[in-house]
Amino acid sequence: MKDFRTDGVNPADPALHPAPVRAVPAEAVGPAGGPGAQDGAARTAGARGAADGIRAGAAGGGARGSEAGGARTADAADEVDEVDVVVVGAGQAGLSAAYHLRRTGGEPGRDFVVLDRSPAPGGAWQHRWPSLTYGKVHGLHDLPGLPLGDAPADRPSSEVIGGYFARYEEEFGLRVRRPVEVLSVSEGGGGRLLVRTTAGDWSARALINATGTWERPFIPHYPGAETFRGRQVHTAGYRGPADFAGERVVVVGGGTSAVQHLLEVSEVAASTLWVTRRPPVFHEGPFDERLGREAVARVDERVRAGLPPRSVVSVTGLLMNEEVRRGRESGVLVRRPMFARLTPDGVAWKDGRTAVADTILWATGFRAALDHLAPLRLREKGGGIHVEGTRVVRDPRIHLVGYGPSASTVGANRYGRVAAREVRRLPAPGTAAA
Ligand SMILES: Cc1cc2nc3c(=O)[nH]c(=O)nc-3n(C[C@H](O)[C@H](O)[C@H](O)COP(=O)(O)OP(=O)(O)OC[C@H]3O[C@@H](n4cnc5c(N)ncnc54)[C@H](O)[C@@H]3O)c2cc1C
Repeated sequence: MKDFRTDGVNPADPALHPAPVRAVPAEAVGPAGGPGAQDGAARTAGARGAADGIRAGAAGGGARGSEAGGARTADAADEVDEVDVVVVGAGQAGLSAAYHLRRTGGEPGRDFVVLDRSPAPGGAWQHRWPSLTYGKVHGLHDLPGLPLGDAPADRPSSEVIGGYFARYEEEFGLRVRRPVEVLSVSEGGGGRLLVRTTAGDWSARALINATGTWERPFIPHYPGAETFRGRQVHTAGYRGPADFAGERVVVVGGGTSAVQHLLEVSEVAASTLWVTRRPPVFHEGPFDERLGREAVARVDERVRAGLPPRSVVSVTGLLMNEEVRRGRESGVLVRRPMFARLTPDGVAWKDGRTAVADTILWATGFRAALDHLAPLRLREKGGGIHVEGTRVVRDPRIHLVGYGPSASTVGANRYGRVAAREVRRLPAPGTAAA
């Protein structure tokens, strides 16, 4: 099967994502130096939208002085500010790294800056659908130094976590600059990095990248996709079950999002059909620390081998709970094998069976949002980035947090500390390693 990454959030939902969508072949996600995943050409529709928003909405001239992000003014475009460390992204991973940089003596704004392209605190959580309530998330690990405390299970996780991150940033004075999108990171001369953004450029000794995956929804390519007359929606464009009322919906994907979509959509849809490539594995019993460690170790193995990281569910299995059990009994969570192609009216299997669909809901995951690192040519032949801990082996000035084994709220926390410690130890440009 040939894969492509969507260059936008949801190819068939222009109302939600009006920017044009361009597909990038998976083959382009090549080894170091090749075009593709990191070539910078693959900016997401969401990213484009935000960049436009920055230009249109921000107060001119405020980019440097305030944390409110800002337009890239003519002045800002010419100046390059020196800073020790740039942290890209203010989700769980970026905030954890910033906390530890601060804790080890770094002054936000002077020694390090945190840049985030989203409009508000909350990382990717702020973009998640309203019906993903706090009670439905798999336990968010507290950020270091400030517990989230009790939160109502029925409130949208975007609100709960957005509010918590806002309090956190304020409590520790992290001075996150937003909306500021990092456009590229390249050699800046003298061993430093040049960080180009929508609010001017920074020269940095090191960079902690914590950009998550939300910006890069992934839809696998199936023959006939362009002929399908219905609607195609990715998890990133899912706003809740109401959009699917009365429809025949095919849900694709074997992860937690697919399961949650099916349980919700089946309440209002005319019918749902679940298809996955591999039979899903449901995990009975609590997801304890041992299982967590095993899952992380397996993802870590791939990353060390220079391969693209797998999703966490591919190594942990799906959690079984009462709702899931009921879904299986009622037939909603009974999976069919993957179809072979799309038709104008729905989907078709190799053996000639077909199913009519109004909407295909792709719960097929995300990829790491790393386009801006393309100029540094960090990819290995296997298509992944070889990371030891958080340090990129090809360029120790770059640390990836929330990538591969640290792509969970627990991992993001732990590795935020590791990254902060390592960049502090990094020798100054031009000096030998200790
Ligand atoms: C639907 C869904 C549900 C999940 N549920 C759970 C759960 O229950 N428990 C759990 O542990 N994990 C869960 N995860 C995984 C979870 O998202 C991660 O564990 C964690 O929140 C990711 O944090 P992060 O800081 O790495 O990334 P994010 O939260 O994605 O933050 C990245 C930030 O970087 C910014 N950014 C991106 N690109 C740029 C750029 N070029 N310039 C500037 N800023 C940029 C983004 O705007 C964003 O604010 C879930 C994931 C999904 C998709």
